[in-house]
Amino acid sequence: MKTGYIFDESFFWHDNGSGTLYLPAGGYLEPDVFVEHPSTKRRVNNLLNRCGLMEKLETISPRSATREEIEKVHLPSYVDYVKQLSDTTGGDAGNHAIVGRGSYEIALLSAGAAITAVDSVLTSRVKNAYSLSRPPGHHAEPEKGIGFCIFNNVAIAARHAQKEYGLKRILILDWDVHHGNGTEKVFYEDDEVLFISIHQHLSFPNNTGYATDTGKGKGEGFNVNIPLPAGTGDAGYLSAFQSIIEPIANEFKPELIIISAGQDPGMFDPLGRMNMTAAGFSAITNVMLKLADNHSNGNIIFVHEGGYSNAYVPFCTLRIIEEMSGIKTDVEDPFTGSQALDEVNIVQQQAINEVIKTQSKYWESFKSLISR
Ligand SMILES: [Zn+2]
Repeated sequence: MKTGYIFDESFFWHDNGSGTLYLPAGGYLEPDVFVEHPSTKRRVNNLLNRCGLMEKLETISPRSATREEIEKVHLPSYVDYVKQLSDTTGGDAGNHAIVGRGSYEIALLSAGAAITAVDSVLTSRVKNAYSLSRPPGHHAEPEKGIGFCIFNNVAIAARHAQKEYGLKRILILDWDVHHGNGTEKVFYEDDEVLFISIHQHLSFPNNTGYATDTGKGKGEGFNVNIPLPAGTGDAGYLSAFQSIIEPIANEFKPELIIISAGQDPGMFDPLGRMNMTAAGFSAITNVMLKLADNHSNGNIIFVHEGGYSNAYVPFCTLRIIEEMSGIKTDVEDPFTGSQALDEVNIVQQQAINEVIKTQSKYWESFKSLISR
């Protein structure tokens, strides 16, 4: 079976207007290209075409999410508000979540692409799937948009998988450099969706993503935050995947894995400081593919989130899709080559140890480590 690749031209037509980095222009901020811009994603598409990998994937057109599907996660009043902005003047749907003219329909399709990924994998049309969803989703909360995210694509896809396929254990792993606050909020009291966010500590949003935020009620223990210090590179990430994410996933035994794939931990990202290389993305993708093989019959989908380096996001994303499909192209990383992984330093190790200590309350694998 092939790897599915899901996108629609309209994803590149969602318009944030001009801006300066992530702020609207005005005052002393001279207008510039808004940082969440179609180019990063379009260039992923272009590189896949140029290197010939695209024709070896099964390209799938997404359907739009229905209003009912969106409202499994978002308040009807919020959905109405987004539609109204989209139909009229456009504007901010919350905190740095610009809705342009027509963005409502594009956001429905972006969420629908994540749903399409779930369907195409769970009906065995493809072996796994990558959705180039835009606008992204992981910051969006039930009642408001945050950080370029309008509807929470992965949360909507997880709810769809529960309803249509009766899944009881879904793992959402969010490796975007920013904390997946929206997804955390949706599933904070839920023990059927295990949410893990690995991110740069206290980057965005303000004051969220602490290791000690572990879930509530029956969801206690099913929310795992892995905040890492700025500068953590490939080795630190891989270590966190192997020493935290692998053992927890092995105990949880997910029936489906959903990745919030933000490539903004990449080393040239203007909104992240994490120094990951494309080779590092290969390595962490492999960890997750192996977990899917061991527990979920290989069922895993990737949904695009952030990533703002026009130059580097395409190469990082290409490596992910190479691993998913098992097809290596002749594309080398022009920026870092296949440089050896860096080393885990003491500050990164302390951050990892802190998470293990916090999670030892909930996961057997860590209990013996801590009591020693
Ligand atoms: Zn991000």
